[in-house]
Amino acid sequence: MTPLFQPRLLNPPFGDPALYIGLQGEGTALLCDAGDISRTAARLLLKISDVFISHTHIDHVIGIDHLLRLNLARDRVLRLYGPPGIIANMTGRLRGYTWNLTDTYPFKLDVHEIGTRTISVRRFACSEKFKPGPEQRRPFNGTVVEHPLYRVLTRRLNHNGIASLAFRIEEHNRININKDALGRLGLPKGPWLQTLKNKIRAQCPDGTLIEIPAAGSPRPRSMRLGELKQQLVHISRGETVAYISDSGATPANLKKIKELAVGVDRFFCEAAFLERDAVKARRSGHFTARQAGLLARACSAKKLTVFHFSPRYERLPDEPAREAREAFHAG
Ligand SMILES: [Zn+2]
Ligand SMILES: [Zn+2]
Repeated sequence: MTPLFQPRLLNPPFGDPALYIGLQGEGTALLCDAGDISRTAARLLLKISDVFISHTHIDHVIGIDHLLRLNLARDRVLRLYGPPGIIANMTGRLRGYTWNLTDTYPFKLDVHEIGTRTISVRRFACSEKFKPGPEQRRPFNGTVVEHPLYRVLTRRLNHNGIASLAFRIEEHNRININKDALGRLGLPKGPWLQTLKNKIRAQCPDGTLIEIPAAGSPRPRSMRLGELKQQLVHISRGETVAYISDSGATPANLKKIKELAVGVDRFFCEAAFLERDAVKARRSGHFTARQAGLLARACSAKKLTVFHFSPRYERLPDEPAREAREAFHAG
C-alpha cells in the first residue's frame, strides 16, 4: 500500500531547508520550514495547507512570502505554526507591503504561536489588509494538530538561545476493511464502514452496536464492534516522520529529540557541519553530520536524511551524508 506521507526536501542539501510532505490521495501537503522555495512548481506549493516553522532565521522563513503571493487571490485559509514571536514576526512582515488593491480577496492566514502551555492564534485576512485579528487561545500539551488522518507533535529545542521547534508527524493507525470478508458475511459497502472506522479510532468499547443497512429492508441490522473488528478489519501501524532543524547536540536538546522522535520511519535532521568542525557546530547551534547519524540511531529511526549543509563543504558534496550514514549504521 502506498504510504500516506510522501516526504521530500524541496532543495538540494546545500540549499535552504524546506521539507514537503505530500499526503497521498488527499491532494494536500504539509511543509516543515519555508526557506527559498521559488524553484518548486506552483501546483505543488498550492497543495500546502499547513506550514510548520522551526525558527525565524531568514533561511527558514523567506519562502513564506512566495507562498502568500501564490495564494493571495484564492479563497482559502493557510495555517502557519511557529515558535514564540511568530505572530509579531508575521505582523511586521505583512506590514512591509502595501495592500490597497486586495480588499476583495478572501485569502486568510492563521498564525499559531506555540508557547509553553498555550497556543495563541491570530487570523490575518487579506480583506483587512492583513491586520492581525483578535487573539484566540487554546491549551497546548505537545500536540499542535489533530487531524482525522494524522497528528503533529512538537518539542521546543534551544538554538543558541532562541527556540527552535522540532516536529513529529504521525499517521494514525490505518484501518483497512477486508472486502472478501465483507462479501462472505453478506454485508453491504457504504457509509456505515466509515462510522465503523470512526468508532474504532475513538476506541469505543467492543460491545458498541453498529447499525448496518440491510438490503431490501428498511430496518438496519446491528452487530457488535468487537465482532466486526475481528472479522472485517485489519489495523496496521501508521508511518511517522521527524523533522529536526537547527538546534545542536546539547544534552537537553538530545533528550527532547529522543523523546519526540523515538521509532520514527523517516528522520530528517539538519547537519550543517562535519565532525572535524564540531566546535563551530556547537558555537552556532548546529549538528555535525556524525551527531545527526548517532542521534537517528539512538532514536531507532528507520531511515535518515541529513540536510542544510554549510557551503564550506561544497567541494566535498558527498561527505556530510557519508559521515552521517557511517554513524547511523555504526556498531
Ligand atoms: Zn538555518
Ligand atoms: Zn538557525
